[in-house]
Amino acid sequence: MSDDNFLEVRKNLINILRNQGINSENVLDAMSRVKRECFVDKSQRNYAYLNHPLPIGCNQTISQPYTVAFMTQMLEIKKGDKALEIGTGSGYQAAILKELGAEVFSVERIESLYKRAKKNLEELNYSVTLKCGDGTLGWKEYAPFDAILVTAGSPSIPDSLFEQLNINGVLVIPVGNNYSQEIYRILKYKDINGNISKDIMTFKEFVFVPLIGKEGWQFE
Ligand code: SAM
Repeated sequence: MSDDNFLEVRKNLINILRNQGINSENVLDAMSRVKRECFVDKSQRNYAYLNHPLPIGCNQTISQPYTVAFMTQMLEIKKGDKALEIGTGSGYQAAILKELGAEVFSVERIESLYKRAKKNLEELNYSVTLKCGDGTLGWKEYAPFDAILVTAGSPSIPDSLFEQLNINGVLVIPVGNNYSQEIYRILKYKDINGNISKDIMTFKEFVFVPLIGKEGWQFE
């Protein structure tokens, strides 16, 4: 399939996302600029614009485009925001955050995926600060963040991630059991007495690979 053909199928996917209720033009524009085919294995390229998760090796997946759009929309990224992603995977989601104008930091626990995402992002000229490690602990050196996006399912909200959010910052994270999770949107704010508080909204049922780490699931 040629690059031109991908352009058409990419546009088609954006229309599907719009019809599914994604209404942030910024997010749709960003997704129309990122070449998903470059973040999947060669053998999967012809499926890159199906609205499905795809395997990226090591039992992990690149998330379904609808899920990516839905979670990204909830972050309400503004140009210059500092965004932390937990679960770099292929690097695709990080590229979308870059296209939205954020300064992007991303942590991946599996070394081979971290290395491939680094290569993918560099080849496409996306400047993202990456690290291989346990993202449930966040990335203290660069905190606080305006937005934190966790792309794997957690049993609870990791304290470290909430601590590393800016006031008025948003954390989006799937929370649930091994089989299904709800997406939580957590806004950190100061109440009228000046105390730090959280406002939590929850959305639908999704299925994610597990967030494995000190403040996530503790199994291999
Ligand atoms: N955002 C990715 C993309 O655009 O391709 C998809 C991520 S995949 C659904 C979830 C990723 O989270 C996997 O690559 C997995 O290895 C990673 N992960 C799981 N637990 C983690 C942890 N504690 N820290 C960092 N990454 C973790």
